[in-house]
Amino acid sequence: MAFLKKSKHNTLFYGWPVLLVGTLITCAFTYYSYVSVVSENHLRLDYDSDEIVKQIEYKMNQYEELLLQTRGFFLSSHEVTRKEFAHYVENLSMKERHPEIQAIGFGVRVKSTEVPAYLDGLRKTIPSYNIWPETLNEEKYPIVYLEPFDEQNQRAIGYDSFSERNRREALSRAFKTGQTSISKKVYLVQDDIRLPHPGLILYHSFINSVPEYFFTAFRAETLFRTIFNGKELPLDVEIFAGTTPSTESLIYDHDGKFHPDDRNTLEKSIKLYGQDFLLKFRPSAATKNKSVYKAPVIVFVIGMVFAFLIFRIFGITKKSQTELSEALESRDEFISIASHELKTPLTAIKLHTQMVKRNASKIEDSDARRKLYADHIDHTEILSQRLERLVDDMLDISRIKTARLSVFKELVDMNNILDEAIQRLKDQFRVIPGAKPVVNYGINTTGIWDKHRIDQVITNLLTNAIKYGEGKAIEVTTSSTPTTVKISVKDHGIGIAPEFHDKIFDRFERAGINSRGISGLGLGLYITHQIIQLHGGTITVESKVGEGSTFIVELPKTS
Ligand code: ADP
Repeated sequence: MAFLKKSKHNTLFYGWPVLLVGTLITCAFTYYSYVSVVSENHLRLDYDSDEIVKQIEYKMNQYEELLLQTRGFFLSSHEVTRKEFAHYVENLSMKERHPEIQAIGFGVRVKSTEVPAYLDGLRKTIPSYNIWPETLNEEKYPIVYLEPFDEQNQRAIGYDSFSERNRREALSRAFKTGQTSISKKVYLVQDDIRLPHPGLILYHSFINSVPEYFFTAFRAETLFRTIFNGKELPLDVEIFAGTTPSTESLIYDHDGKFHPDDRNTLEKSIKLYGQDFLLKFRPSAATKNKSVYKAPVIVFVIGMVFAFLIFRIFGITKKSQTELSEALESRDEFISIASHELKTPLTAIKLHTQMVKRNASKIEDSDARRKLYADHIDHTEILSQRLERLVDDMLDISRIKTARLSVFKELVDMNNILDEAIQRLKDQFRVIPGAKPVVNYGINTTGIWDKHRIDQVITNLLTNAIKYGEGKAIEVTTSSTPTTVKISVKDHGIGIAPEFHDKIFDRFERAGINSRGISGLGLGLYITHQIIQLHGGTITVESKVGEGSTFIVELPKTS
């Protein structure tokens, strides 16, 4: 039975499309936010890397200034002694102002033929002076002075800057162009050979009586740490001397972890004093983790929460709208069926009354007239009972709905209630053989129940057995256990399909028999079930289509 049945629809039809659209919108926004964050990161990376490049160029300019200043110092005097140079460097307050400069030095070209005379001259002030390492080069470019004249720097005195390829290349460039030049990666000779540090040397040259040069030597690590102010950079920087990144050309690595295959980097090439440098930048681990995923994750979570909320709200709204319209439809259907059910017996009563009125005056024989009255009154009584039951059922339904269906228990005997019900229904039993059900009475069938309600249960099962029993025999059996009393009502009628065995106890369920024209509201078994539950009992059905049904009620003697 469709009307007023519990709504079985769900939010699937309405809610899921809303959720799907919400999810798609969320994904779109998440993607958009991811792309924005990534591009913002690229911009920031670009900006930060530019700042770093500027810092490097600015500092290198300062070092060049220093070299030019040194050249000026040399040009201003005819001959500069080691002492004067030491004094000059001391005045520069290098330790305080430029602790990153490992050494500032001065060197000259010495042709191989001039070496002995050159050595003689220098050994007057520095007895242990020598040119090293020994090479077959025609021209040598030994370091003459080197300050601060500390233990480490003393090791480099006399070192021939042309004896090593990268120094030679940078120095040649300085002589050739007259401009400041910087070397590729070198290892400073000041350092212990077992602990080499990558370094850089900045050269400037000029031609006096012979070609001369000045230079500042740096340990790359100290140089760049100073340039970056020892600060925590937002980026990780790797600096390579040359155009190809490799461990050989790597001169500085900010985080100390070389990442040769990292594709997530920004590369920038710069040219400093005639030398190419490659800088690789990547967001530092902390910045990367924070920025790239945080915002999209937040957008996704918030978006999905909203999508679910809208899904719920939309689902609930749609559900209540649908439930409301279904309820209205069911109410109209119920009113139409209930009116029909009430009208049928009323019309019959009206017909009987008219027939009595019309025919009674025509019948002269008083016995025949009495019989006519009696017949019509019997019929009217049956119809009135049917009407009464319908109205009672409808009242009970409203009582059950408002939890007002109450029971007044007393000690009663099931067999007695059964007898009274059979007696009351005797006219309706006329359709079955023997005009009465076959009853097998059990013993000890008393219990504490609401007599009126148990009568209602039995009456309902008996009238159903008559209605759906196809005029075949009806058997009623009562029995008992020490704690329970059972009553079963068996007919041999149309039977009930298995899929309805549970459903027939629902409100307004008619097990699909509407079309067969057997009248009813689908309320009787529902009310019966409720009453039995109020007594703590059970009701079950055994039935096969076309073979009949047996309804079994079991009640505890005291509940
Ligand atoms: P109604 O008889 O007014 O339809 P009920 O609640 O008493 O309402 O019964 C519900 C449905 O259960 C009936 O419509 C009918 O399909 C089925 N039914 C009840 N009793 C029997 C029976 N004895 N034999 C076959 N079907 C039955």
